[in-house]
Amino acid sequence: MQYITLNDDVRIPQLGFGVWQIPDAQAYEAVSTALEAGYRHVDTAAAYENEAGVGRAIRESGVPREDVFLTTKLWNGDQGYDTTLRAFDLSLERLGTDYVDLYLIHWPVPEQDLYIESWRALEKIAADGRARAIGVSNFTAETLDRLLKEGTTPPAINQIELHPYFPQAAMREYDRKHGIVTEAWSPLGQGGDLLGEPLLTRLGGLYGKTPAQVVIRWHLQLGNVVIPKSATPSRIRENFDVFDFDLTPDEIDEITALGGAGGRIGPDPAVFN
Ligand code: NAD
Repeated sequence: MQYITLNDDVRIPQLGFGVWQIPDAQAYEAVSTALEAGYRHVDTAAAYENEAGVGRAIRESGVPREDVFLTTKLWNGDQGYDTTLRAFDLSLERLGTDYVDLYLIHWPVPEQDLYIESWRALEKIAADGRARAIGVSNFTAETLDRLLKEGTTPPAINQIELHPYFPQAAMREYDRKHGIVTEAWSPLGQGGDLLGEPLLTRLGGLYGKTPAQVVIRWHLQLGNVVIPKSATPSRIRENFDVFDFDLTPDEIDEITALGGAGGRIGPDPAVFN
């Protein structure tokens, strides 16, 4: 496993396991399979309604808690100082743990204008040692500019939609300049048309890898933290088997150039509420 050191010196496994849209009843099995396959980083959120299954899988896995990097997120309706502190307590309760490794503001929701107050609550949670690192998700240059100016602690991570159809060059550069690590959500483009791209099939053929593995490798070599999701055991294992080949710089550029073909799948963070 490769690790990235965040701006607060916390080390995050660069490849993690995403669990959006895995119902609580199946999350236990999916996370158990992922931990058996070697993943040591799980990305959930209060909004995914599966924190209980995720937490139970980690507790019963036999893997020491300190060896698993666990992320959860603050939902939009819970933003605000006191409401964030309460929402965080409830997340910990559902997860059955007394700390998380990373707590993120899920979306900025500029319209409700509560992300600065919420950030102060995350700073308090970090100061109390209940989140080892704190960060944001779906923040734009505009919302991050304000957070960096008005906050005390810079975010360690910005988790954003990022895949070869939406390579986010400007946002990655913004994060890099400010010492923020970029984490890619929907890194496989949600398994849509992207994985049928002839370029990815051709490169996969060269290395004996699948298109999904080539895409995950592209993320790793760009320096992104990457959290592919699958509920299928063979794919959970396949997505972890990406540490034995290297794409060339030209191949990475060719994959990045697919960005001309696609675009954003998810909502626009400037307006999403
Ligand atoms: P993804 O890009 O990881 O794609 C997942 C889908 O791709 C699967 O459901 C499956 O259909 C397909 N797939 C997975 N592995 C495959 C393989 N080896 N071969 C073929 N097809 C495969 O999409 P995602 O779930 O949207 O994103 C990953 C994680 O990112 C989520 O689970 C969640 O943790 C996080 N996320 C965060 C936000 C946010 O707002 N912060 C938003 C969306 C997702």
